[in-house]
Order: sequence, then C-alpha cells, then structure tokens
Amino acid sequence: MTTSGVRVRIAPSPTGEPHVGTAYIALFNYLFAKKHGGTFILRIEDTDATRSTPEFEQKVLDALKWCGLDWAEGPDIGGPYGPYRQSDRKNIYKPYVDKIVENGHGFHCFCTPERLEEMRAAQRAAGKAPKYDGRCLNLTAEEVTTRIASGEPNVVRMKIPTEGSCKFVDGVYGEVEIPWEAVDMQVLLKADGMPTYHMANVVDDHLMKITHVARGEEWLASVPKHILIYQYLGLEPPVFMHLSLMRNADKSKLSKRKNPTSISYYTALGYLPEALMNFLGLFFIQIAEGEELLTMQELAEKFDPENLSKAGAIFDIQKLDWLNGRWIREKLSEEEFAARVLAWAMENDRLKDGLKLSQSRISKLGELPDLASFLLKSDLHLEPAAFAKVKLSPEEILEILQTVQPDLEKIFEWNTASIEAELRAIADRMGKKLKNVVAPLFVAVSGSSRSLPLFDSMAILGRSVVRQRLKLATQVVASMVGSK
Ligand code: GLU
Repeated sequence: MTTSGVRVRIAPSPTGEPHVGTAYIALFNYLFAKKHGGTFILRIEDTDATRSTPEFEQKVLDALKWCGLDWAEGPDIGGPYGPYRQSDRKNIYKPYVDKIVENGHGFHCFCTPERLEEMRAAQRAAGKAPKYDGRCLNLTAEEVTTRIASGEPNVVRMKIPTEGSCKFVDGVYGEVEIPWEAVDMQVLLKADGMPTYHMANVVDDHLMKITHVARGEEWLASVPKHILIYQYLGLEPPVFMHLSLMRNADKSKLSKRKNPTSISYYTALGYLPEALMNFLGLFFIQIAEGEELLTMQELAEKFDPENLSKAGAIFDIQKLDWLNGRWIREKLSEEEFAARVLAWAMENDRLKDGLKLSQSRISKLGELPDLASFLLKSDLHLEPAAFAKVKLSPEEILEILQTVQPDLEKIFEWNTASIEAELRAIADRMGKKLKNVVAPLFVAVSGSSRSLPLFDSMAILGRSVVRQRLKLATQVVASMVGSK
C-alpha cells in the first residue's frame, strides 16, 4: 500500500549484463519506498540505441525480480505514467527540447563529429578537459533555419552560465558546489531525434512524479545540468541522493576485470537472493556485530538513509559467502532447502539442456555427475595437471586464453551459434586450427579434456561464468609459463 507521495525509481540502461551495482541502487530505492510508504518503479533507459538490446533488458528485469525487488510500475506491467521504456516515449521529449530552444536556453549545433574530434584533440593537447567550444552558440536565426531546411544534420545543446557555480544539497554529500566552468554544453537531442540520457531522464522523472532520485555517485557531476534543465522548463527538481559506489577490497571501482559483477554469476553459483540482498542492505544500516542476518523486512525497518557513509561499500565476497552459508543453514527449512536446490539446478533450463547433451554419451545414469557436474559447480579447482592432455605448449595455451577471453566480450547475443562463430573467427585470425583453439577451452570451461560439446556448454553456463572460468584458467596457465 502506498500511503505517501514518495516515488522513487531504478532506471537501468540495458547495455550489458545486469550488474550487482544496479541491484545495490535498486535495493536502496526499494527500501526507501518501503520506509516511507512510497512507490518504487522501474524505467528502462535505452536512449543509446546502438548498445541497448532486448536480451539485456529481459535480463535486467529477470535479475531484479530474482532479487525480490518488485516494482509497482514498469515496462512489463505498465502503470499510470507509462510507457516505461524510453524508446517507446520518443515523441514525448521533443516539445520539451523545443521549449528550451524557443526560450533561448538551447541552440542547434551543426558541428560534425570530425570537427568535434579535432576540437577535443586540440583541447587535450593543450592540457584542458574536452568541452564544447561554443562555435554554434551565436548563429543567426536565419542561418539556423536555412541550414535545418537544407537537411543539414544537427543536435540541440543546452546553454550553460558563463560564470558562477551551481550549488545544491545532496541527500548523502550535503552541500555541493560545482563551477559552471566545469559543465559542458550538453547535447539534449541527438541528430537522429532521440533525446540524450540527461534530457530523457529529467523529463521522465518529472512526468513520472519522482520525488527522490537515488543513484550512483558517478552521476553527481551531472546534477548541475539536470538542475538547469528543470529550471529551463520551469519545473521543481527532485531530491538527489548519490550513493558511494561499491568497491573492491583494494578500494578500486568494482569492475568485471577484478571480481565477477553480473547478478547472473551469483545466481548461477547458487547464492540465495535473500543473502545477496542481506549483504547489500548492510551498507544502508547501522547494526551491532552479531545482528547481521536480516530479512528484507528487517532491513526495511532498520534502513537509515540519513546515516549513509561516503566511504564506499566494499564488495567483500568472503562476507557474502559467510552470509549465504548462514542463510542456507539457519533460515531455510529442510523442505525449502530441497526446493531451492532443485529450482537452482533447473534455472535457465540448465539441467534440461545439460541432460540433452549427455544422453548419447553415457551407458549408466551414474556416469552423469562425472560428465556434466561442471555445469553446476561453483569452483572447478583447476590445477596445471588438467591441461596435461592438451598438445600445446603452456605459452601457446596462454596466448589462446588471453585472446579468447576479451574477444568473447564482443558477442552481442550469447548462444551456441554466436559462440561457435566467434571462436572460428578467432582461430582464423590467430592462424590456428579450430580444434587447437578449442582444446584448452574445454579444460578451462569444464575442468577436463573429455566433456560435453564446448559451444553448447558455454551457452548453458552463461557469459559471466565463462568469463570467470577463463580468467581463472589464464592464471593457472600463466603460473605454468612462469614456473618453467
Ligand atoms: N540509466 C542510468 C544508469 O543506468 C540511470 C542514472 C539515474 O538513475 O539517473 O545508470
């Protein structure tokens, strides 16, 4: 039940595997809504048409649902302020951009991408931060009309004050002051007629009656642009809260190069959503030692948005493991535990697809675990000896693993056919036979040189698990090269 006017949102861009950082921000918003008797909604921000895909959108919805973060309005269920996908709202934004231009707060810019690149290169060479230099700022109205009428491609940019600074209060950072000097004349409408993130985000937060914007600290520097857009449109901005990003133990930004960051990785390894939410929720509350094991309801009761730290939330996998173990042992009944295990094995048709591949390869059912358990394992415990049957030198294996891992990141839709096509292309590029490229991958992915067909297995395991296995295998093989 919503009893207050508080409305918050998670606004993911479906441009990659759903990130644990998205779950972290979504959980904050979810708890904030619960605490205030407000409404939590989901909006898909897919203004970047080249990088957004329906596959990633579905994955982000599935991942947040798996987390138990139910939304009251969203692209899948609709709601009073829909549509909730920005690409379906394309026509909504133009009048707002027109208003900004008509009131003299925005201007058409005809600079070509090549000209902008040259400008930025010159600024960088002079040791300055790249920023639009204002070439199209003072074109006459006639010139603008003529150039638009002749079909010349153009974007709309916003004007930025030339002096002073933008001051605002952030719910986490307190008073913030950013000089206008540091703010770029942001593009609001792209040449293809699509709004940019900034424009669409402000218009949608307004139209969807969002009262509090809680998001990652990487957006703090964009607030002056957003406040200015609200002002130009004569609208009241929401309250902003910028949460410190999750970091690795060494304080570096959480990135998939260091730790697995995909929610699907944690799902595949058999973490319980309750434990992941418990782990992330501890960043938003103050508790004494010994009180760590908390349900969503308990997290909401203890949730304290006034008392957040700016120190950065450390993504400590050992702590997550510890909490997950406690959830398995202390919170699930025997029946629940059995039901969870079965549901986990069946997820994404993993078991069904694995069995399909296995049927023609066994003579007794009891051979199944040896053949197919790698599809379910959280850790293959890979040792150098596992590569003994691969008839290539450790140097060559290392080169293959180091080439394949980044190249697989380029696959748009992850499935058996796309994986096979990419590996064939890699083999061609490396001037190697496909079977030589595939041999070490078999070991890296399955832990053994005799297992189920590789491309299908990789498809079943999923992108994030394969990425992590290739990374671990690379370390094992690098140690073989190093110790020769
Ligand atoms: N689409 C943005 C993102 O994915 C949302 C930022 C915001 O919440 O304003 O990070």
